[in-house]
Amino acid sequence: MTFTDLPPVLAEALTERGYAAPTAVQAAVLSPEAAGRDLVVSAQTGSGKTVAFGLAFASDLLDAEGKLPFALTPLALVIAPTRELALQVSRELAWLYARAGARIATCVGGMDASRERRNLQGGAHIVVGTPGRLRDHLERGALDLSALKAVVLDEADEMLDMGFREDLEEILDATPAKRRTLLFSATMPKPIVALARRYQRDALRLSTVGDDRGHGDIAYQAVTVAPAEIEAAVVNLLRFHEAETAILFCATRDNVRRLHAMLQERGFAVVALSGEHSQSERNHALQALRDRRARVCVATDVAARGIDLPTLSLVIHVEIPRDAETLQHRSGRTGRAGKKGTAVLIVPYPRRRRVEAMLRGARIEAEWIGAPSPAEIRTQDRERLLAALLQPVEFDEEDRALASRLLEERSPEDIAAALVRSHRAAMPQPEELIENTPEARRAAQQERHRPGFEDVVWFRMDIGRRQNADPRWILPLLCRRGHITRGEVGAIRIAASETHFQVPRAIAGKFSAALARTTGEEGDEAGVRIEPSEGPRETARSHRKGDHGAAPSGQGRPFRPGRGKGKPGAGPRGGKPQQRRKEPR
Ligand code: AMP
Repeated sequence: MTFTDLPPVLAEALTERGYAAPTAVQAAVLSPEAAGRDLVVSAQTGSGKTVAFGLAFASDLLDAEGKLPFALTPLALVIAPTRELALQVSRELAWLYARAGARIATCVGGMDASRERRNLQGGAHIVVGTPGRLRDHLERGALDLSALKAVVLDEADEMLDMGFREDLEEILDATPAKRRTLLFSATMPKPIVALARRYQRDALRLSTVGDDRGHGDIAYQAVTVAPAEIEAAVVNLLRFHEAETAILFCATRDNVRRLHAMLQERGFAVVALSGEHSQSERNHALQALRDRRARVCVATDVAARGIDLPTLSLVIHVEIPRDAETLQHRSGRTGRAGKKGTAVLIVPYPRRRRVEAMLRGARIEAEWIGAPSPAEIRTQDRERLLAALLQPVEFDEEDRALASRLLEERSPEDIAAALVRSHRAAMPQPEELIENTPEARRAAQQERHRPGFEDVVWFRMDIGRRQNADPRWILPLLCRRGHITRGEVGAIRIAASETHFQVPRAIAGKFSAALARTTGEEGDEAGVRIEPSEGPRETARSHRKGDHGAAPSGQGRPFRPGRGKGKPGAGPRGGKPQQRRKEPR
């Protein structure tokens, strides 16, 4: 199918952009039965819906010659839930309507309001904005909607969800009764149906959600893990997929902060987006993702609304979405405009049934698998390294001169190995996970409730990953220095430059006394300092499966999203999300 019967100014813009065929939602709004009518469209982000409504209201805006008439007040208004989405819509309409000579004004929270007022006064054909800021301009008399021909509510479900109903109603009440109303929404809950009933006349309902999913743009995977291994599973999924850009969803800003810190510590190029970040921090984070300085973004649902990153090919639901709609919204950040994407749900074993029910309800078929193992990751790495290093490259004279010098000193095989090694060194290490079998899970469970470790004391050593700390040599060292056995050492957490470990409280005194005697003696390797501690910080890595006994309150707990009530890091358990944030006006 190709675009037909479009005003030439728009057809040329699409051709220039290389868009030869309409997407499902574009074909639907351009069908003869939709012409001139109010529309309720269920379409997901990434379906090409912005161009769809841009094309749909063309007949309301352009004159008989296909040109935009001179206009003192706006002819079309697009209302979107977030700044990012509004700016994205504005950019999209700018190229689509460039040849028509359209003036587009953008009015969004957090931007310079007086500049927006000047733009509105200068006469704009199309206004794109967020509800709160548009309402402000309306109330101050800067926005005149009396001659409006068409209004678009983009991601209407999100807007209602974010508490913008009143703002929307006030804006819609200020528009002429004869205007055309196009309502776009990924989902159609009751409040949307009520809004459509109140503000639309004889609306035609169009649904392309199923069609889009039918194209299989997003592959869903459900990865089952032990609750204590969510963090390790995230690391391995990122390393397995090595997506150009990936987004990780958490339920709360605390969990975003923690996961961001953990990934940064492991060497991932990662940014965070949550309610605690200012607009300028958001902009920096998004810019870093766009210019590839960062490849991973950890975000809350609210903070990630409206994000459009064309290179985003992996979505990880680190914490289970609260409902099927959130699942679809989050996943819809990938698989956009015909590109393939993967959405992975990390499912702690005890929550498997809940996720199965959610997927069934949303009619999504997911592949149930275990988290990628280090061996699988190494296999992928090998393939990727070979592909990357065998890419054709042009060398200049200086490169060749250096290559000759190297060949004088080393064999070609050694040089190639050094090249591979330097590539490998830049990759964060995968994590060892409990095998995804009932036996392995049972063994891990037993380990977690290891007798003798109900009451423990933490100690700290001043060496960490940077000094190659590894349980294989740390354990013997502790036994030699502290006169204890391997079985008397509990969890070991290795951080960047320190390591924490547990000893049962009953033998802690004996252990400390032995340490005091052996310090400086033979066997005190490299003068490693060992002292009592409060326990590791949140981001340290556990090298023993599970916690042996309780860590001191709030300290040293591994990242366990969504567990426990009221603790920092506890996610909302069903019901309403905890954060509802309106844009600043
Ligand atoms: P949206 O659903 O509006 O966020 O659009 C997602 C992406 O699809 C945007 O980058 C659009 O420019 C792109 N797009 C829109 N229409 C088409 C089309 N007919 N063919 C290919 N890409 C398109």
